[in-house]
Amino acid sequence: MRRHRLIVGNWKMHKTIPEAVDFLGQLTELLTRGEYEPSTGVKVVIAPPFTALSAVAAALGTLPFLLGAQDLHWEDQGAFTGEISGGMLADIGCRYVIVGHSERRRYFGDTDGIVQKKAAAALRHGLHPIVCIGESLDQRLSGQTEHLLSTQLTESLAAVSKEQAQDVVIAYEPVWAIGSGHPATPEQAHDAHRHIRTLLIALWGEDAGERVPILYGGSVVPENTRNLLVTPYIDGALVGGACLNPVLFAKILAVAGSLN
Ligand code: PEP
Repeated sequence: MRRHRLIVGNWKMHKTIPEAVDFLGQLTELLTRGEYEPSTGVKVVIAPPFTALSAVAAALGTLPFLLGAQDLHWEDQGAFTGEISGGMLADIGCRYVIVGHSERRRYFGDTDGIVQKKAAAALRHGLHPIVCIGESLDQRLSGQTEHLLSTQLTESLAAVSKEQAQDVVIAYEPVWAIGSGHPATPEQAHDAHRHIRTLLIALWGEDAGERVPILYGGSVVPENTRNLLVTPYIDGALVGGACLNPVLFAKILAVAGSLN
């Protein structure tokens, strides 16, 4: 089954509102010069910090990109100082939300149980959760990658029904590849994605399990995009560092578009 390609840009804690608007102006100019044809079947999501969501929504102008957030709280409202709910994200125009990014797991204590509650909250509010999973270098070197991916995936998705599966996106992000300049090889990514696909089918059956897009994330740059995305097991990319630069991001979109 050929699933649509999806490229997600995670800005992390980068860009003020003027910087965000400037980025989108430059990106629009690059794309309208014809370096990327938006009708190629590549879906693009931009996930700015919360503070820039409205400005990005407005500055997207004619670009057919979708808005994403980088996290949400699992409750719908209440006394949770500093937090943002799924309803608030939907309200501002978000369609996607990243959950369980390794930085959230590492610095903010997000466990698989918390990721499970966040994914469920996203779905309750009509948002597509982008559920991130991935092994550390130690786990890879000690042969635990598949076991770790199985645990993270099944625990994070335990509250998602088969009917809701079509709204979920998985991102395989080996922790050692994030921001390191050392991406997984296409073979390593291929093997991990194949394992994840098998798990999704075991969880939700052939039809629903085949529909879920699985993105690769970790040091994606224009030069390695083709080799990573060319395998049928990899449906797209979650891009960090390279999505902050309009030229690099436009190039990644161009490569992704050329593969359809
Ligand atoms: C990420 O943080 O999700 C990521 C993939 O970052 P980078 O592309 O910089 O490795």
